[in-house]
Amino acid sequence: MLVLKDYIYDFSDKNKPAGECENGEIVQFVTEDCFGGQIKSEKDSHDNVDFHHTNPATGPLFVKGAEVGDTLAVDILDVEVADHGAVCTISNYGCMWPGCVQRTKIIPIKDGQAYYNDTHWPVDPMIGVIGTASSENVPSGISFNGGGNMDSRIITKGVTVYFPVRTEGALLAMGDLHASMGDGEVCETGIEIAGKVTVRVRVIKNFKLNWPVTETKDEWYVNTNGYTCDRAVKFGYDELARLIMDAYGWDYTDTVMYISLMGRIGANQACLDPGTIDNEGPTFRVGIAKDKIKPRLIP
Ligand code: CA
Ligand code: ZN
Repeated sequence: MLVLKDYIYDFSDKNKPAGECENGEIVQFVTEDCFGGQIKSEKDSHDNVDFHHTNPATGPLFVKGAEVGDTLAVDILDVEVADHGAVCTISNYGCMWPGCVQRTKIIPIKDGQAYYNDTHWPVDPMIGVIGTASSENVPSGISFNGGGNMDSRIITKGVTVYFPVRTEGALLAMGDLHASMGDGEVCETGIEIAGKVTVRVRVIKNFKLNWPVTETKDEWYVNTNGYTCDRAVKFGYDELARLIMDAYGWDYTDTVMYISLMGRIGANQACLDPGTIDNEGPTFRVGIAKDKIKPRLIP
């Protein structure tokens, strides 16, 4: 199995591939935590972290046969996390910051449980940063229409995430694992942790996506971002409606009514900081339940 360890700090079509694979191949990505390993103890403050070396994304992986206008399907086969992670508040970040102090907590992970203060719960490892490259050169710390720092709690073992291919080979990269994260990630960090992700990549020829899509057992979700929550959600509805109209053969009004009946919505990273550009705003997942009678949204 191809194992990748090199990482990048932006989703750019100018990055040299860290490895190359065939369509359908299984590849492992060994990932650093979002701090780039800079937080080692509870004495390390996020305020002292060098931002230029945060959110390293392992890769990029060049997938043979992936061309502009295709979709890259990434089957998440496994997400393994290290034996400890860290959560911290970040000065002046997030709507709940007023009243907080800067604090770092190291969270031990033992026997699949995360230990916090006097309680513990089962880990639910997820991928915060994952995406394909474009000519936009988007920093790996922010979210965009090729993925990036989406921080979707449902991007975990067992799902498939679909990405637009905007450059030859797609250039897939990922990192920023969380042992667990709540919807909204209100203090801006989950249990930030190093680990390994094992995926299978598949090229779907001539199928265009405008945003990444996550397929779970029972649902489809478009991942979006915008500088306000309502803007982010509307981008998601627009893409979802397009996919439903194409797959189900319905007109716009019937599709909107259907979304009104069968829609799903979740906050990914929606810390509610005022944004000025869409890529730095909150991220959401906007979807529908699968319909057994109708075709798949993505072939
Ligand atoms: Ca993140
Ligand atoms: Zn993170």
